[in-house]
Amino acid sequence: MPRTLITGGAGFLGSHLCEKLLNAGHDVICMDNLSTGRIENIEHIHCREFQFIHQDVTQYLYVDGPIDYILHFASPASPLDYLEMPIQTLKVGSLGTHKTLGLARAKKATFLLASTSEVYGDPEVHPQNEEYWGNVNPIGPRGVYDEAKRFAEAMVMAYHRYHGIDTRIVRIFNTFGPRMRLDDGRVVPAFIEQALTGQPLTVFGDGKQTRSFCFVEDTIEGIYRLLMSNETTPVNVGATAEMTILDFATKIIELTGAKSPLIHKDLPVDDPKTRCPDLSKAKRILDWEPRVPFEEGLRRTIDFFRDKV
Ligand code: UDP
Repeated sequence: MPRTLITGGAGFLGSHLCEKLLNAGHDVICMDNLSTGRIENIEHIHCREFQFIHQDVTQYLYVDGPIDYILHFASPASPLDYLEMPIQTLKVGSLGTHKTLGLARAKKATFLLASTSEVYGDPEVHPQNEEYWGNVNPIGPRGVYDEAKRFAEAMVMAYHRYHGIDTRIVRIFNTFGPRMRLDDGRVVPAFIEQALTGQPLTVFGDGKQTRSFCFVEDTIEGIYRLLMSNETTPVNVGATAEMTILDFATKIIELTGAKSPLIHKDLPVDDPKTRCPDLSKAKRILDWEPRVPFEEGLRRTIDFFRDKV
């Protein structure tokens, strides 16, 4: 039975991954310092094969026994969170990646890094393929996340090339679904909460910036397939149904039946104007593409949030 460590395992994606790997027959060690993750996300998991360790991965890591896979998902991941925790964000992407790679080396484990579409910054290539090097402002407020993840990718490739570690890099585009924090500031929970409580939907800037949103179930399947593949270069995982934030706001109003108006707020500094993955590589190598229709994913997410607001 493979034994797998998931850092950030009590977070949104991390907790879904814990379940996915338990269902695939792994023993799972979930590690989290609970800075943005929550016990609530994993407290329903009761089995002998599951263990929680409360630990900050930027500190020295000791884990008893063998480990076959390490999935490094610890990091603040919403613009609001990494603006509030800039130094922790830099540390978990740099020191945390170093520590977890060191553990992978000691245990001869396969290592998967949760990277991000943010490595492409405000992209000048559209849609973004994995060959594109990106357009990132290192000293802007988002730079703490973007550069930490870029450094993490460089560190993973160095351990792969120099120490021969078996590694994977997934570049995750906007994902949504149950277990996102209502207050994490990202557009999906923000608009759903505003719509369900009759508040105005806060569109940043003119709302013409684009994103494409992938339902969590699909994202998790893409990550799992990459882990089980032997692809050591980065692979995009996301959805290609690109839309403006204004269109997204209208969709949320339609699906919730809300009467909320739209109001405009300042666009955050360096907010990417467009974003959409080129999924050719994921399709070719992983035989994967998103399956859950966008509206179905949104309905399931809205149902989850109805109980929370
Ligand atoms: N956004 C918005 N209103 C909000 C939150 C976000 O208009 O209340 C916009 C934000 O400016 C960005 C897009 O929605 O253009 C997606 O933002 P999110 O924070 O979800 O993540 P990002 O894709 O920027 O990493």
